[in-house]
Amino acid sequence: MKKVKEQLGDDVCHDVLFLHAILGCDTTSRVHGIGKAAALKKYANSLHFREQAKVFNSPSTVDDIVVAGENALVSLYGGKPGEKLDGMHYQRYCEKLATNSSQIQPQNLPPTSAAARHHSLRVYLQVKQWKGENEGMSLEDYGWKVTEGQVLPRMTDLPAAPESLLQMIRCNCSSDCASARCTCRKHGLECSPACGQCRGTACTNSPIQFDEDDSQDQ
Ligand SMILES: [Zn+2]
Ligand SMILES: [Zn+2]
Repeated sequence: MKKVKEQLGDDVCHDVLFLHAILGCDTTSRVHGIGKAAALKKYANSLHFREQAKVFNSPSTVDDIVVAGENALVSLYGGKPGEKLDGMHYQRYCEKLATNSSQIQPQNLPPTSAAARHHSLRVYLQVKQWKGENEGMSLEDYGWKVTEGQVLPRMTDLPAAPESLLQMIRCNCSSDCASARCTCRKHGLECSPACGQCRGTACTNSPIQFDEDDSQDQ
């Protein structure tokens, strides 16, 4: 441990909790397609990225965390200081649309600002928890929602797409919408009343349903 610590240096050790949590750990979402080493590399090469890490390692306001988290993610996705995730998301989408022959996989795009907001807050909370400084911090203020005793990550505050588009995506599965053949699931959307068979209530891809068997066990 001592040797690794020496090799990494004081600065990395100081911010290693943030570096670990921002790209995903047991309690924070995994950033698709970016390996852990990327954060270390960024940290070594980018003063701008290091500045963002600082915010997660000191007492910060929600607004500061959200801005720093977005800046850090922009940086990890190869953007320049000042760029915004929504802009990058759109630009990468157009780029892929113009050059890809296969279908665009949404997980390969940078997250939206609205999704990154809650991720950043969860990262901040996790760093605080690891440091034992989370007293008085409520889960619900930091990217989580508590519903019927279950703690679930808050994904975003915005609809997945404009209403007119969402109405066009529907499935007609005769099974339980568990496979990737379900159009809704394939697009990362929950089933809705527009679906032919499941009607967005009777399948495994419906808006969160609590298993009745579970509550009976308790
Ligand atoms: Zn389906
Ligand atoms: Zn369904």
